[in-house]
Amino acid sequence: MAEKFDVFVIGSGPGGYSAAIRCAQKGASVGLVEKDAMGGTCLNRGCIPSKALLGSVHFLTLARYAPLMGLEIGSVKPNWQKMQSRKDAIVGGFNKGVTGLMQSNGIKLFRGRGIATAADKVRVESQDGNTDIEAKNIIIATGSEPVEIPTFAFDGTTIISSNEALNLASVPESMVIIGGGVIGCEMACVYSAVGTKVTIVEALSQLLPFEDEWVGKIITREFKKLGIESLVSQKVTAVTVGADGATVSLESGQNLQAQKVLVAVGRRATCDKETIEALGLEMNGRIIKVNEKMQTNVPGVYALGDVVGTTFLAHGAFAEAEVAAANVTGGDEKMYDYSLVPRAVYTFPEVASVGKNEKKCADEGIETYVGKALFKSNGRSLAHNETAGEVRVIKSKADNKVVGITIVGSTATEMIAAATALLGSTQKITDVCFAHPTVSEVLKEAWEDAFGTSLHIPPRAKA
Ligand code: NAD
Repeated sequence: MAEKFDVFVIGSGPGGYSAAIRCAQKGASVGLVEKDAMGGTCLNRGCIPSKALLGSVHFLTLARYAPLMGLEIGSVKPNWQKMQSRKDAIVGGFNKGVTGLMQSNGIKLFRGRGIATAADKVRVESQDGNTDIEAKNIIIATGSEPVEIPTFAFDGTTIISSNEALNLASVPESMVIIGGGVIGCEMACVYSAVGTKVTIVEALSQLLPFEDEWVGKIITREFKKLGIESLVSQKVTAVTVGADGATVSLESGQNLQAQKVLVAVGRRATCDKETIEALGLEMNGRIIKVNEKMQTNVPGVYALGDVVGTTFLAHGAFAEAEVAAANVTGGDEKMYDYSLVPRAVYTFPEVASVGKNEKKCADEGIETYVGKALFKSNGRSLAHNETAGEVRVIKSKADNKVVGITIVGSTATEMIAAATALLGSTQKITDVCFAHPTVSEVLKEAWEDAFGTSLHIPPRAKA
């Protein structure tokens, strides 16, 4: 006898578990299947463990400039094993938390591999045998995995992905990171702080190439101070594994030696082939095609998160889950403009942006005026000795509206929510009282500069 549900969710990442909870809150009977640890990539192999390690090394970085702050604290050394256990404890706590949320919301949890065999049927395969499920709606939230380069495939020991990089047993002496994107830059901050000699090799002309050029320049400059070497516009042609590490050969003829080679060149969607074929899902390569209601081409079947390839961000998945859950339970909602989904990179300094950047505006022929403010002119940033960075507020000349904000600097990832709330507005920021002194006043200053009303930046010619 099949178990029956209104909604059955495949995958327990941020997209899957939040969609399940929302459906349950609306009174639907919900089941969810997970083949691995609860919480998906974000919780087990992504956002949370990486931020836990970054939290430890941020503390270490701050401690190292204690003398400059007038403090005598003796030597501060990283203990990698303890950093790892702290990270594992945080992850473990959240694993239990997500499992508990399933229970408290009355969601039946299945452990095993879920395969959709028809628009209203799922087979759960586990060590204890198979369970047949019947569901009025199915939500596929099966996530993504690191992209592998076939000519130097992952071996899990010397050539590693972010999965292994978060769990290395000891600190390597040296590491070459292939890919200067989000994962490459964040992991460079972790390993350089604990003593690894880190070299990033990026194929495009700057680090974090999806951001504007000035962002890459600040990050490269600040990384240099941390001892991280950045090689841009460089392609890796081969990685040869030897007795104690590998030789990384670049197109330029240069060879780099490293104990570990982290390949961080993107992630790709993962959905079971059997599910795709059984349902006849319309695909775009490995990505499941969905409309703005998160519906696939098969009535009653929804997909969201990394498997639909829109943002590859946990908060993108959370937003899509809201839409899918509303529609599954009788609503009529559409996913909002993806440019309202902020981007956040937890490097030293942090990078966060929302809306269109200067590059995108230029590509779309949008004439802009860009307001700028520096962290080094901000009182709180000086007090904290975290003065690297800048805020840019991009205003469209045609309608005087702010179309994008980019922040490089400490707490950028915290400030971006306020920037997101103000996006699309004109002078709205004048209604907001910023506490003084706060780091977020840099945002206010840059915003005012975009409108020619800055208090602390001398007047300059406005176009
Ligand atoms: P990414 O797309 O951010 O960066 C990959 C980088 O690799 C790009 O800069 C690309 O130009 C470069 N590259 C590709 N092929 C190369 C090659 N052969 N040699 C050298 N460089 C090469 O991908 P990622 O860093 O692997 O992250 C994967 C996904 O996970 C991203 O979509 C990212 O948004 C997400 N993620 C987000 C966060 C966050 O929001 N803080 C953190 C980690 C991961």
